[in-house]
Amino acid sequence: MKHPFKPESLMMSHGYKPALSQGAIKCPIFQTSTFVFETAEEGKAFFELAYGKREKEEGEEQGLIYSRINNPDLEILEDRLCLWDGAEQCAVFESGMSAISTVLLEFLSPGDLLLYSRPVYGGTDHFIHHFLPKIGVHIVGFTAGQSQEDIIKAVDATGNADKLRMIYAETPANPTNTLIDLQMCRRVADHFQGDEKITIAVDNTYMGPLWQHPLKHGADLVLYSATKYIGGHSDVVAGAVLGDAEHILRVKTLRTFLGNMTGPWTAWLLMRSLETLKVRMEQQQANAQRVAEHLSKHPSVKRVKYLGLLTPDDAEYPIYKQQCEGSGAMVSFDIQGGEKEAFKFLNSLKLIKLAVSLGGTESLGEHPKTMTHAGVADEHLAELHITDSLVRLSIGVENIDDLIWDIDQALQAALTQQ
Ligand SMILES: *Cc1c(COP(=O)(O)O)cnc(C)c1O
Repeated sequence: MKHPFKPESLMMSHGYKPALSQGAIKCPIFQTSTFVFETAEEGKAFFELAYGKREKEEGEEQGLIYSRINNPDLEILEDRLCLWDGAEQCAVFESGMSAISTVLLEFLSPGDLLLYSRPVYGGTDHFIHHFLPKIGVHIVGFTAGQSQEDIIKAVDATGNADKLRMIYAETPANPTNTLIDLQMCRRVADHFQGDEKITIAVDNTYMGPLWQHPLKHGADLVLYSATKYIGGHSDVVAGAVLGDAEHILRVKTLRTFLGNMTGPWTAWLLMRSLETLKVRMEQQQANAQRVAEHLSKHPSVKRVKYLGLLTPDDAEYPIYKQQCEGSGAMVSFDIQGGEKEAFKFLNSLKLIKLAVSLGGTESLGEHPKTMTHAGVADEHLAELHITDSLVRLSIGVENIDDLIWDIDQALQAALTQQ
């Protein structure tokens, strides 16, 4: 009898056969560069599949060749990641940026137009603005809150609407948690659809893989910095791309030649992380909700941006209900005052660490305007609500009373005149 086990029940075992590894309950680290073929004929058959020279036969699996192409740790990790997003296939990378840049390079060619949401992660922003134009890719941005008609007009105004080949979105946007409507992105793609496919790629790092599943809302590809919630312990840098077999075959083929796949040790660490993914993320979310509620009542705080505080009166509420399955664990807020008070708050924290990155077991705080978003052009700061007084928190798994104590004492220190 088949039972549809939930992903969290399968993270310890899915895709791994103990009998192939001396009965070891855990998948060993296959720290090997190459794999021995039983016969030359077998080697030939493996390469035929790897190079797409023939279709797989019934029940045939791609054999192991060389660790840049495949490795058991990579393949089992990819199988497990697929479960959370209900994806057909996955490709893992040595960083989130290598996953993102590989996707942009594979699906965009010189002369093509990219439509992307603003703000995107700083590294992505740099790649879009400073690398893609060098190879002749045209770019046009849009922000959360812009209507479908506005976006269509902006694309038309580039004069390259017929060359639109990709929509790239990051939602919720970092650092303010504003939401992009993914189904609207799909409608924009359908509007401009000609003979050549328009690919929708979504960076789901902030909410995934638990709280948002873009493939269910019209995206073709979902991208991750696995450094964040998937890794979850601030001890590994990695990335992932998921989608259907056709898209991932293209991504994996370019990955083979760029050589930016994860190594077996990184893949093993991520498998270990996935076993606790759900309990970690749920605890982080529960803590974040409490922190956000506490901040929203605090007299030293002007404004809190957290998805779990949205109410039916908020313009973003319908998008939130439609596409998010949780409120996440990223909280940002404006402290009374400006940079001086924000810095004093961050310098006064005793438990929460002052660091960029997010999604790990320990809580982190940072100042977006001068740190993660230091590269954002001045004219965009106001529109994106990146202010002097904005502080971003990534909430971890610590005891909630300790977190609230720390925030309270740091707010008090920040607002006390020296
Ligand atoms: C961190 C991050 C990235 C980049 O990932 P790396 O693993 O650091 O290369 C991309 N997108 C988002 C939203 C991120 O937070």
